[in-house]
Amino acid sequence: MNRKLKYKVYDQLYSVFHESSKCYYCGDLVAGFDHCPPLHYTWTKGTDYLYENRIPMYKVSCCSDCNSSLGNRFYGSLQGRAEYIYTRLHQRFLEQLASPYWSNKEIQELDSSLRIAIENNELVRGWLERRFKWLREVHLIPLSIKQDCLDLVLTRQYELKNERLKSV
Ligand SMILES: [Zn+2]
Repeated sequence: MNRKLKYKVYDQLYSVFHESSKCYYCGDLVAGFDHCPPLHYTWTKGTDYLYENRIPMYKVSCCSDCNSSLGNRFYGSLQGRAEYIYTRLHQRFLEQLASPYWSNKEIQELDSSLRIAIENNELVRGWLERRFKWLREVHLIPLSIKQDCLDLVLTRQYELKNERLKSV
């Protein structure tokens, strides 16, 4: 059986756990379904293995960014997947998250290329903050993970400040 057909057959074995116009994990606009465990995993292990190990097969509405972030990674639970996304977003967008905040007045005084770069960064940061809020409120991200992510951002902010001080 070719991959596409096989995925289609396996897809029907999953129960819809959550179907919405918003991503189950982050609340962003939906692009398709995320399979937990991933289709590739079910294909590789076989359905008997999943049944014997009591691994449920769920699918949830998912945005394209969460879907590509998760890829074929195996996390046995939806909660595990939400926690992975929360951490991974902080790692992937660390520079944007750690960049300094500017007031509107400061931004207006900058030359246009720098202003555009900062405005774009604020758009990315806003998009991330909305998703983090959803992840924290809906999936109750554990305190230890929230702290680790915050530490990551604060450490990078500290480094950036030091680099700037040295260059002055
Ligand atoms: Zn998402």
